Amino acid sequence: MVRSLIEGGGAGDGGRDPERVRVETHKLNAMVGYADGLSCRREALLGYFGEPYPAPCGNCDICLDAPQTFDATEQARMALSCVYRLHERDGFGYGIGHVIDVLRGVENEKILSRGHATLTTFGIGAAHSREHWQSLIRQLIHRGYLSQDIARYSALRLTAAARPLLRGEETLVLAVPRTRVPTRSRRARGARGSGVAGTAERSVDEELFEALRRLRKRLADEQNLPAYVVFSDATLTEMAARRPRTHEELLEIGGVGTTKLERYGAAFLAVLAEHAGDASGPATPP
Ligand SMILES: [Zn+2]
Repeated sequence: MVRSLIEGGGAGDGGRDPERVRVETHKLNAMVGYADGLSCRREALLGYFGEPYPAPCGNCDICLDAPQTFDATEQARMALSCVYRLHERDGFGYGIGHVIDVLRGVENEKILSRGHATLTTFGIGAAHSREHWQSLIRQLIHRGYLSQDIARYSALRLTAAARPLLRGEETLVLAVPRTRVPTRSRRARGARGSGVAGTAERSVDEELFEALRRLRKRLADEQNLPAYVVFSDATLTEMAARRPRTHEELLEIGGVGTTKLERYGAAFLAVLAEHAGDASGPATPP
């Protein structure tokens, strides 16, 4: 049905010329990856111009401070089956926002009136934030498991690549969505009443985060290594949010393995202990 809308034209958004729709859709999907900032900038740009992807460039901001990765198979299946069930039920797809609302079990008017609260995928992704799902779905678009149909209000569609993943024949590793740390300037602007607020998923102590970054820089400089080799920003953010006090707790932070624990654990725990007194509240679990 969606295909016939594009090929027949007249669905809006320049839907008259199928080749034009194909090119525009391709460009849109490629830029989704660039905007998300989790994959090599150069790869994303070349993809935009329709050139084949070479290896990651090794020089852009993303390559130099690579995001942590995780086994996203289960979560990707949740998102893909949610897109599938919505399409199966209504005969057409929905945009990212609505798919996330269904995944997270939001009982808004649109979901209730369309009966989407009765879907088997309703609420299966409630454990993760809206930001988390946004990042995950954008990565699925960028990797070609989903595409956005510009002839139909950017509705999500499964691609052929999604099938083996849904059937359990493939696994998928994705970048851990970056947790945003509210910056000093943003907070200052907010205080002046501009209404701009920080959007941290967890509350992170900025001073502690900066102290952890200074330690990381010192350790990296001593060994003549780039800072991200010691720990990534995502790892430091999680440390600042969860405030581990023991080696065991430190090991639970993403990006901390036994080797790094042995090498850097004591130094980071010392900085964490120094800041233990000025916590504004108990550390929140993820
Ligand atoms: Zn790169």
